[in-house]
Amino acid sequence: MTLPAEPADRVCDVLVAGAGLAGLAAAIAFARAGFDVLACGPDERFARGRTVAMLDRSIAYLDSLGLWAAIEPEAAPMRALRMIDDTGALFPPRPVEFLCSEIGLETFGWNVENDRMADTVAAGAASATGVERTPAPVTAYDFSGEIARVRLGDGRSVAAALVVGADGRASPARRAAGLAMRAHRYPQSALTALLSHRLPHRDFSTEFHTREGPFTLVPLPPGAETPDRSSLVWVMSDGEARRREAIDDAALVREIERQARSILGAMRLEGRRGVFPMIRQTVPKLTAPRLALIGDAAHAFPPIGAQGLNLGLRDVEAIVAAAVAARAEGRDIGGGVALASYERDRRADIVMRTSVVDGLNRALLTHFAPLDFARGAGLAALGAVGPLRRFVMREGVAPRFARPLPGRPGGAML
Ligand SMILES: Cc1cc2nc3c(=O)[nH]c(=O)nc-3n(C[C@H](O)[C@H](O)[C@H](O)COP(=O)(O)OP(=O)(O)OC[C@H]3O[C@@H](n4cnc5c(N)ncnc54)[C@H](O)[C@@H]3O)c2cc1C
Repeated sequence: MTLPAEPADRVCDVLVAGAGLAGLAAAIAFARAGFDVLACGPDERFARGRTVAMLDRSIAYLDSLGLWAAIEPEAAPMRALRMIDDTGALFPPRPVEFLCSEIGLETFGWNVENDRMADTVAAGAASATGVERTPAPVTAYDFSGEIARVRLGDGRSVAAALVVGADGRASPARRAAGLAMRAHRYPQSALTALLSHRLPHRDFSTEFHTREGPFTLVPLPPGAETPDRSSLVWVMSDGEARRREAIDDAALVREIERQARSILGAMRLEGRRGVFPMIRQTVPKLTAPRLALIGDAAHAFPPIGAQGLNLGLRDVEAIVAAAVAARAEGRDIGGGVALASYERDRRADIVMRTSVVDGLNRALLTHFAPLDFARGAGLAALGAVGPLRRFVMREGVAPRFARPLPGRPGGAML
């Protein structure tokens, strides 16, 4: 759609479309780098048992944005990861444990309720110098001219050198720019819940690999009256998800305790449960003239291995770095050179994470004996071979493809 020509009600360097976690982090990061930012879109809260596990590298980045100190009191550290095969496979491997101390870290990362993190990041964006925040959504884009032109839901027209599309899986910005997207719907959904339990989690994240998908318990910090708490992400068939969405709390808790083999003792549900369909989305191109996609607008996959937002935060780092470099070289921050640099920077990391998550999920679903053997052998090797286990742990928390953070070594060198 073509918007009216000059004048615009607002001119800015960067318009961030979408105020989810990736969009707000991007708004803050661009403003800290000295850009004039307009961040638009409604505040989102999930309140359906959803948490987000952020890995070591994301914590360092949030810290560099001045956000971590306010998130940390709401988060719980993950110092160990336990994987238990529960597939009934022909060649069942023994449980494998990964300790963060093996790779010299104090923690693999931290787990926090989505809504608590969203509150903190929204407060950070509201008080950041250089960010104008409006709940109005973008209702129209025009990428055809010398500069990007946007219409907001409050009627204002905006001109921006760069639009950052952080507007989620459906991404209206992506569609307006004519960028392709490929989607695959898995026959699975993830049930999420917050739980209090009788036994302590000891900072262990525990993952049971079942035939329908992983069942993962992740530590949460103590509540006012309940010292021992965890979040659950339980991937299962769509049919089971529909059934478990409908049963009462007591029946659901019984099924959760049974699947958890009571390792955390008696449990109680806190608040509402959530059910999220499992989808993979890939985008052959992350950029179009004056547009860069980040976060779920750029990639989406099942919640396995805590990757989605962690990847989204690496997108933020990369697009801000590309804009800063363009400015230093006297180039246009929304021009072809800056956008090509962002595209190059992100491609390998996104492709690799998407494939690994897809492969892990498919390996669990298969009943094909040779593949089952390969999966079992892989887990067994992880348990037995220290260097392999340490490599996998490092790749998980600090991938090779990520750019080095200031003052820290690059991913593979940790
Ligand atoms: C069950 C589950 C568990 C997960 N666990 C983890 C985990 O442990 N670790 C991890 O790293 N990731 C995890 N993820 C993934 C992670 O939650 C997402 O990757 C992340 O929240 C995506 O953030 P986003 O800001 O890119 O997108 P979104 O949160 O989807 O935000 C997009 C925003 O854009 C807005 N918007 C849409 N259209 C417009 C418009 N026209 N104008 C303005 N705004 C617009 C929407 O309203 C929305 O607020 C999990 C996901 C699920 C489903």
